[in-house]
Amino acid sequence: MLSRRRQQYLDALGIDLWVSRATAVPPAADAASPAVLTPGEARSARVAAPGAPLSVPPVAPPDADAQPLWQALREEVLKCAKCPLHLTRTQGVFGVGPPRADWLVVGEAPGAEEDKRGEPFVGAAGQLLDAMLRAIGLDRTSNVYIANVLKSRPPGNRDPKPEEVSACLPYLRRQIDLLQPKLMLAVGRIAAQSLLGTDAPVGRLRSKVHHFGAIPLVVTYHPAYLLRSPGEKRKAWEDLKFARDVCQGLGQDAGSDGHRA
Ligand code: SF4
Repeated sequence: MLSRRRQQYLDALGIDLWVSRATAVPPAADAASPAVLTPGEARSARVAAPGAPLSVPPVAPPDADAQPLWQALREEVLKCAKCPLHLTRTQGVFGVGPPRADWLVVGEAPGAEEDKRGEPFVGAAGQLLDAMLRAIGLDRTSNVYIANVLKSRPPGNRDPKPEEVSACLPYLRRQIDLLQPKLMLAVGRIAAQSLLGTDAPVGRLRSKVHHFGAIPLVVTYHPAYLLRSPGEKRKAWEDLKFARDVCQGLGQDAGSDGHRA
């Protein structure tokens, strides 16, 4: 079933769903809408609950023992000078979200708005990311943690240099150790390639279950790319549903051969 709220998020994304005339409901209806499936949803219906909203478990209360470690790590990042990016940044951008979230979204690096506000994904691309995540029941205030590979903005939003990634990646590793997410979503080429140690393009990395250590990792497009190429939003939406299915299937058969069923 597709809730009215979820439909509104998909509308905001510019993703049109195929709605049967027979099942369409007037816009004024407040109750949950009838099932409306994209062709991809219809295919996946045989292996997963079609169009089902993400079953979002309550976030466990913060581990009291971990709180000082989170705080120490944050302070370390904010005063870090391990690479030259500290000379040009306004501030370090640590990450945002509950410290016990099941999902970890990893992007590339802060942009201008993030550098100014000290939070990842807060510009136009961040708003799109938030809308996409909300469409599957995720929200940075309650059940998804968002961070970047680089904690400081590269000047002019250039690609991170390998030595910058090498210097900064240990911070993300420590965030992952503290968070212990069930699933990682790498958004964009830089994040995916940095985390997976590959130079393969996103188009070849998506639709598969990779692993970062023991943690399943799914790859999708960066929302900034989707803003430039809105025709790719549908693929990103398929990726999110795939990630949702992987997360829901953990403990059953996720990660068997690493490919979409
Ligand atoms: S990018 Fe990372 S390693 Fe470089 S200064 Fe910022 S926090 Fe330190």
